[in-house]
Amino acid sequence: MTTNIQSKLPAAGTTIFTTMSALATKHEAINLGQGFPDFPMNEELLSLVYKSMQDGHNQYVHMCGLPALREGLAEKVHSLYNAPIDPETDITITPGGTYAIYTALTTILQPGDEVIIFEPAYDSYIPNIEINGGVVVAISLNFPDYKINWQLVKEKVNAKTKAIILNSPHNPTGSVLEESDIESLRDIVKDTGIFIISDEVYEHLIFDEKKHLSILRYPDLFERSFVCFSFGKVYHCTGWKLGYCIAPAALMKELRKVHQFNCFTCNSPIQYALAVFLKQKEQYLQLGSFLQKKRDYFKTIMQETKFIPLTTHGSYFQLYSYENISDESENDFAVRLIREAGVATIPVSAFYKNAVNNKVLRFCFAKKETTLDEAVSRLLKMEMISGIG
Ligand code: PMP
Ligand code: GLN
Repeated sequence: MTTNIQSKLPAAGTTIFTTMSALATKHEAINLGQGFPDFPMNEELLSLVYKSMQDGHNQYVHMCGLPALREGLAEKVHSLYNAPIDPETDITITPGGTYAIYTALTTILQPGDEVIIFEPAYDSYIPNIEINGGVVVAISLNFPDYKINWQLVKEKVNAKTKAIILNSPHNPTGSVLEESDIESLRDIVKDTGIFIISDEVYEHLIFDEKKHLSILRYPDLFERSFVCFSFGKVYHCTGWKLGYCIAPAALMKELRKVHQFNCFTCNSPIQYALAVFLKQKEQYLQLGSFLQKKRDYFKTIMQETKFIPLTTHGSYFQLYSYENISDESENDFAVRLIREAGVATIPVSAFYKNAVNNKVLRFCFAKKETTLDEAVSRLLKMEMISGIG
């Protein structure tokens, strides 16, 4: 008898990030698609990792994460968000933010449970829900400000609603939650058993004097929440794939049951290094202004093109409309830019279950200025983009 594998994710292809990065490599394009910095990370942190290895911190650490790192994180969220988190019971170190979200969903979902997501949505949410037997309830963010339509959320909530996934600052749009959103959320979840999964991997990448409204700030919301973070976005090391989840003890107890038989424990030398480096608060406190400068620089040089910027307040990403440039679909236009201009972007339609074509592309500006300069000068060589024949 031959094996016959039945797909658990029949609708899934290869992620847009991998697809576009592969195409970028093939065409030697500048990759402003996948979200990763191209500037060097902190040398001192690198030395601390090397030192951890030399000091012999190369064996398993505690299943929930190195205690000193969890203690440091509890102090950090206390000082940033006034959240009284117990590092013993409420924090688990995970191999990245995506894994934390996946594990939270695995922890809570029973077959047929509904999970509300907002589209455009980070591409792992839907498969993460579906592989756990959940049903995706996708609500489109308003275009072009990408705000949540809470009235629609109210209408979609029913007895089967198990969770709502939030993401602020938001990938791909850079929109951020405001106090009025928190009020609406509170109003909807009170007196329900709905969990919140809050994806806050871009917590520090917030601009224009906006404040990051972490769910950790609100005890009544936190009591039903799994809040997910990533060190990759904080220390410019997305390839390290290390993050953490914070949840109230009763929820975390269940999450750890899942975690212990899937990953068990994460990379130890990096945890030792981060436990030390975390004490340098300015490293994360200056991130917003550091990246805002990059966003503003990119927007300034992009003014020479016919692209129209959309409003963004956070993340690694700036959205641009190309309605003045082409009638092509987002995917076709993004592929054309890779082939003809040598610049890779991500079509925002890829963040919808059923592609919505608003003629918007996502550009990652977390790059050296020289990279951004070269990308824009390549774009300007295309007549349809510069308008100069
Ligand atoms: N959530 C969002 C919105 C992201 O953009 C990313 C980007 N990588 C992640 C989660 C995952 O982070 P990690 O690489 O730590 O898994
Ligand atoms: N978060 C990054 C992005 O949105 C990349 C993640 C990935 O490649 N899966 O571009």
